[in-house]
Amino acid sequence: MRSRYRGCMLGVAVGDALGASVEGWTGERIGERFGRVTEMRRTERGLPAGRYTDDFEMTWEVADSIARTEIIVPEDIARGFLEWYSSDPISLGRTTIASMELLKQGAHWNEAGQRVHEEVGKMSAGNGSLMRTAPVALAARSDPDQLRDASMDVSRITHAHPLCIDACVVYDSFLADLLIMDRKAAWARLLELTEWAYPAINEALKDLLDSDGALDSSGYVISTLKVACWSLMRTDGLRSAIEHAVNLGGDTDTAAAVTGGLAGAYYGEEAIPDTWLQALDVNVHGVDDIRALADRLHELSEKDGSLPQ
Ligand SMILES: [Mg+2]
Repeated sequence: MRSRYRGCMLGVAVGDALGASVEGWTGERIGERFGRVTEMRRTERGLPAGRYTDDFEMTWEVADSIARTEIIVPEDIARGFLEWYSSDPISLGRTTIASMELLKQGAHWNEAGQRVHEEVGKMSAGNGSLMRTAPVALAARSDPDQLRDASMDVSRITHAHPLCIDACVVYDSFLADLLIMDRKAAWARLLELTEWAYPAINEALKDLLDSDGALDSSGYVISTLKVACWSLMRTDGLRSAIEHAVNLGGDTDTAAAVTGGLAGAYYGEEAIPDTWLQALDVNVHGVDDIRALADRLHELSEKDGSLPQ
């Protein structure tokens, strides 16, 4: 289980970093230029190989807050986001920026995302809360009610569109199942959950595994959820899952980070290529820091079954 916790956190980090080198490229352009992206690369904008971006940095903030407070406190997570935001981070999404600006002006954690959603409507259904929700599943995996409520709250800090909130609950529920069961059984449970509780997401997922995997990988939350689920279910390992998500093009870093969280939880840290792990040490929080934080979440989740609310 400890390996799966580490795999999940490290999976988000390596997915983000591998995808960051070709963020926004089309699949065709990646193919023409590199054939296929399989190793960490320096980006055209000059970021070093292995550098992760906002996706993992926000994931870190969520995990770090939970480890520090030993419960899931959205207000504390929002404070962590603000501190991170003031460090001048790279490649943020529009909805995140708009919500962070409101938080900076003093908006309550439960209000900023909602105000942005009301202002921009449909366009606020981006993948910016899905990309950072995995630690919620790790912390609350043994308590489905807490997992649902916390996934919703942590999304709402920046992304209050109902689809974003629901996608986070669905993803975290799937991730929690992948920690303890075969992926086919977890997928069946996912479809069952979405069928009665989240019909819009069920509609998107129910025939997904029949597709050939050539999916549109945009910043739309449902698009990213589809790419991550297909990549996990229709490939034969962590490496091929993350590579599939990257080489589709589009929002490559986020799609691969979201995929990496699932694949790492399922296959464990041993499945992550050494060259990918080594490259992570270019970041402020390197491999050992990420392992230690994952271990803290693991210890917390073992404490009398679940976290106090
Ligand atoms: Mg990013």
